[in-house]
Amino acid sequence: MPATPSSPAPRMILPSMALGLCGGFLEVGLIVLRKYSWNESSSFEAGSDFAWTVPLVHMGTLSLVGLAIAIAGRILPGRISPRAASWLVVTLALWLALLRLPLYGAATFLLAAGLARPSGLWLARMVFRSPRRTVLALSVLMGLLVSLAAITSVRWAFRERTTRAALPLAPSSARNVLLIVWDTVRASSLSAYGYPRETTPNLQRWARRGVRFDRAAVTAPWTFPSHASFLTGEWPFRINSQWEHHLDPSVPTLSAALASRGYETAGFAANTSFCSYENGLNRGFLHYEDYPLTPTSALGRTAAGNWLLRQVAYRDDYFEQKWIERQSRDGARLNEAFLRWLAGRRVDRPFFAFLNYYDAHDPYIPPRAFAGRFGTRPQGPADEEFLMQFARPTRNFGLREAVLARDCYDDCIASLDDQLGRLLGELDRLGTLANTTVIVTSDHGEAFGEHGRFGHGGSVYMEEVWVPLVIVSPDAPAGRTIAEPVSLRDLPATAVDLAGLREELRFPGHSLATCWGGERSVPGGPVSYAFSELVYDPKAVELDDARKSRRLKFSMMAGGHHYVRDGLGGEQLFEVGRDPQETFDRAAEADSQPSLAACRGLLLKQLDAERGAGIIEDAYLRRFRDSLRSAAMPGRPGP
Ligand SMILES: [Zn+2]
Repeated sequence: MPATPSSPAPRMILPSMALGLCGGFLEVGLIVLRKYSWNESSSFEAGSDFAWTVPLVHMGTLSLVGLAIAIAGRILPGRISPRAASWLVVTLALWLALLRLPLYGAATFLLAAGLARPSGLWLARMVFRSPRRTVLALSVLMGLLVSLAAITSVRWAFRERTTRAALPLAPSSARNVLLIVWDTVRASSLSAYGYPRETTPNLQRWARRGVRFDRAAVTAPWTFPSHASFLTGEWPFRINSQWEHHLDPSVPTLSAALASRGYETAGFAANTSFCSYENGLNRGFLHYEDYPLTPTSALGRTAAGNWLLRQVAYRDDYFEQKWIERQSRDGARLNEAFLRWLAGRRVDRPFFAFLNYYDAHDPYIPPRAFAGRFGTRPQGPADEEFLMQFARPTRNFGLREAVLARDCYDDCIASLDDQLGRLLGELDRLGTLANTTVIVTSDHGEAFGEHGRFGHGGSVYMEEVWVPLVIVSPDAPAGRTIAEPVSLRDLPATAVDLAGLREELRFPGHSLATCWGGERSVPGGPVSYAFSELVYDPKAVELDDARKSRRLKFSMMAGGHHYVRDGLGGEQLFEVGRDPQETFDRAAEADSQPSLAACRGLLLKQLDAERGAGIIEDAYLRRFRDSLRSAAMPGRPGP
């Protein structure tokens, strides 16, 4: 460190920058370590740029500290001790990195201060005493920073550019495909599906220009397996997407298939937990945006910056806190990103774009303009904190809080619907819709206490598996509604059909265009069963075999019924439409036995048609199928 007692300060800035970079690289190391050790989700929980954005933020922060010491040195000449200044800078550099540890801030400060004493003195003696050595050290660290930027962000940008240049010519008749996924939106909360609150006037309006499916089911009641089915057409048990949260690289994706036919492909995913580059859902997309990169989000990548943004800069703004915490963005900003990409693409090519919106996912914090639109408005910080912690409640909550959550959820859906109206209105104005198939759907619903549960991923009841599905396309009739239960597993087959590529690209399942018998499809052809599955968390070591089997659930909508069966053979049968809350289980009633038998038979047919991924067959599927066979065909021996 600079040594002259009269003026330690001017030479503090470069060493501080270097120490900031050291601290930044230490935090990068801790993020990597965290993914492979104490992080339950095994994720970096940061954009792929974190390797250079985190050190850059640290360098900027510490250079400000160095500048402050320099200014203090000028104001108070001779009063700033070089040793104290060195200790302070090293302590702060270490502390800002160690905040990433799962410890209290005060404990990490004491740890940093203790470590700074020997390491700060060593650095002061060995490196920063000489300006030449300081410049050399800073140059090496900057070189490392630039290299990390090159192998992350620059490499992706270069790859996008070269892949786009190498795209083959697209068929002249190919249509654009726009897949819009409202994360966590159940059909029963939409006015487009009969909900008394007018949550979705725009979806209703656009549905009149296309086809509305009244009984669309997701393949699984949570994000990753459901999205994996959207992009591959595979059931979760076929590709092990309930346990492995990374898409199997051997499974073909819709995005890669369309890119191979000359499509420009782009994904914009606001659900950074399960739709990011770490989950492999970006495969086949030339351009993929998950964690947005802005000055604010770069600051939020660091532990200290994230705390500063949430606790100081946006202390009373819970809407912004939601997006800072998730390192994500709301519907308005997602639309902007998509429209920006659309404006920059080659107009002589068709496009496939996938948009995932997180606005209705908990915490249910709507934009200011929508807060309180339906029912209760949060009354102060206690309510806002309750909403922020909704998914991990630390206390039991009562009826008022449950109603508040439900009302705010509706507000969030209304804000999503508003963004849908704005987006489709803009695409209409641009003339894009004349050659575009738009698919609006959701990856799963949300429970609000209907069967004693809140949230999603815990059951296969209608509140979690029944979602909206609207298709607006030049190849789809206006104003049609389809009452037949369908599965969102059929989305890729539908997309390639409506893109005009049915003969060239094959995906599992069937085109839903058969439901309306469009020009390009076979009228009255089969569609996949409205079949959903949920399995236990394989990491839940506390579960015994019986509890695992009870949590294993399959369901099917067919013949006006919703059949639910668990791994212990427990069965429930509900009437779709007449019992929307699924309150009355008909499984034990004598006159329901024919329907029950029919549902068992269909579920067995489904599970017999396709084998599960090796590990899934052994873990639960074979046993489940045998138990179902015994119930469906009593007296018949198993295989
Ligand atoms: Zn989701």
